[in-house]
Amino acid sequence: MKIHEYQARQLLADYGVPVPRGEVADTSRDARRIAEDIGGPVVVKAQVHAGGRGKAGGVKVVGTPLEAENAAASILGRPLVTPQTPPGGVVPRKVMVAEAAQIERELFLAALVDGEARAPVVMASTEGGVEIEEVAENNPDKIIRVEADPLVGLSPYRARALSVKLGLPTNLVHPAADLIGNLYRLFTEKDCTLVEINPLVVTVDGRIIALDAKIELEDDALFRHPDLARLHDPDQDDEHELRAARAGLSYVKLEGGRVGCMVNGAGLAMATMDITRWAGAEPANFLDVGGSASEDAIAEAFRIIVSDPEVEAILVNLFGGILRTDGAARGIIAAAQETGADLPIVVSMRGTNAEEGRRLLAESGLEVTSADSLSGAADALREVLGDAAR
Ligand code: ADP
Ligand code: MG
Repeated sequence: MKIHEYQARQLLADYGVPVPRGEVADTSRDARRIAEDIGGPVVVKAQVHAGGRGKAGGVKVVGTPLEAENAAASILGRPLVTPQTPPGGVVPRKVMVAEAAQIERELFLAALVDGEARAPVVMASTEGGVEIEEVAENNPDKIIRVEADPLVGLSPYRARALSVKLGLPTNLVHPAADLIGNLYRLFTEKDCTLVEINPLVVTVDGRIIALDAKIELEDDALFRHPDLARLHDPDQDDEHELRAARAGLSYVKLEGGRVGCMVNGAGLAMATMDITRWAGAEPANFLDVGGSASEDAIAEAFRIIVSDPEVEAILVNLFGGILRTDGAARGIIAAAQETGADLPIVVSMRGTNAEEGRRLLAESGLEVTSADSLSGAADALREVLGDAAR
């Protein structure tokens, strides 16, 4: 689960990481009041679950409370498009108003789980303020990494070594090492999958402050942190992903694809995306309906797939174990009739009651092509997409 910058920076502050003074506002008038309280130059920042706000006009440094009000008015309620948002952008409902720092150097600091190393790692770079992927691509040797032992934690000497490598002035080496230790403590105690500060800055007057804060929490550990679970902002969720989650489906929208996929099991879903590509098309989504999806869940999955205007054909690949494929067929037929969707459907069904499932679909009047293997499904898909293109 992602949280907003204003929430993440509060967690950082709770763990002793210095952050600039600031508050969150829902209206431009509130933004002005906060700027008045702070006094002096402030920064007005769009609160959306995406980075890259700076370059997209979502972060504005201003000199007076009136300018802060105007900046907030220009940000609030207007879609903000960054490389990390969907193409249509995300609408900021809140802005954060914070004291503007006088920056001398921008650094990058993060703790995350490295699946390949099977360990939590702390990463830092002297190239802060820039997207870290860009640094990794163009200047990989500018990224410093230390692995932490999941049981022992991050040893203080490693935190010190990291802060030395950042080339900080001597008097900041220890405060920076403490900060790294605190960041790591937050990361483990709150079951985060990511804590990222970009930029962490050294100010002109020689202090270290976190100017940005990004935290992602492990969904499966949220039950241990009811206070954090409450930080969820449904406004920021993809509408389809939210509907899917409510129906117990795991759905991820993929930009630019035209084949809607309905599959049970994550592995089979991945394989199905592969054969979609093999058939010369891109999948429009990842969708795992789960191993024991009900007729209703399948119907909801179908509705979600066809509500995506990019979908031109549907590939259903179900393996009936606990899932009954005849029930799945009934769910598909009901949802297709209800939505009036008349897209071509390629179906591969095996396992429990597959014969009955296929018969129901064949007799449904829907445009269904049955396939009995993965390669057969790819061939059928190629054919229906060719027809759709003509
Ligand atoms: P994003 O990562 O979404 O672009 P950031 O919070 O990192 O948003 O802000 C972008 C840039 O704006 C930062 O790299 C920094 O240069 C500047 N900035 C952000 N907050 C402040 C602040 N409090 N004072 C001065 N400059 C800031
Ligand atoms: Mg940033």
